[in-house]
Amino acid sequence: MSVEQTLSIIKPDGVQKNLIGEIYSRFEKAGLEIVAARMLRLSKQQAEGFYAVHAERPFFKDLVSYMTSGPVMVQALQGEDAIAKNRQIMGATNPAEADKGTIRADFADSIEENIVHGSDAADTAQQEIAFFFGDDGVCERTR
Ligand code: ADP
Ligand code: MG
Repeated sequence: MSVEQTLSIIKPDGVQKNLIGEIYSRFEKAGLEIVAARMLRLSKQQAEGFYAVHAERPFFKDLVSYMTSGPVMVQALQGEDAIAKNRQIMGATNPAEADKGTIRADFADSIEENIVHGSDAADTAQQEIAFFFGDDGVCERTR
């Protein structure tokens, strides 16, 4: 285990359901620190770029239209094992398969509208944090 950073997004359905505080509370209770945060409405181009890895998937067009349907809350999380820890707190992609007590099991309506995004590995975490926060948009926790 080591201290890692990961990218989290509260997707448009999570913002619409007024879950920002609830989700931040779950991160903080699990020992994850928020080290960068911003709200924005993704452009089509941003959503396509962020999810470029899924460009050939049948659900890509719907995914882009979902992700641009309203504002998202984007944050970088830091902590021991942050990448896996965030994925545990989120639950499986399909809420029907997500463990009880996870964000997706508790709040998601479908495999598409599943409330949150989380990076899946160290390299994607680094790329995704840079995508939203550039080189200097993450705050060091000095206390
Ligand atoms: P995760 O977000 O759990 O890492 P993926 O990277 O596989 O999942 O997929 C990215 C996002 O695309 C999912 O969170 C979900 O919003 C959407 N998605 C994934 N699979 C499907 C599917 N079979 N049908 C519709 N949307 C999907
Ligand atoms: Mg993914």
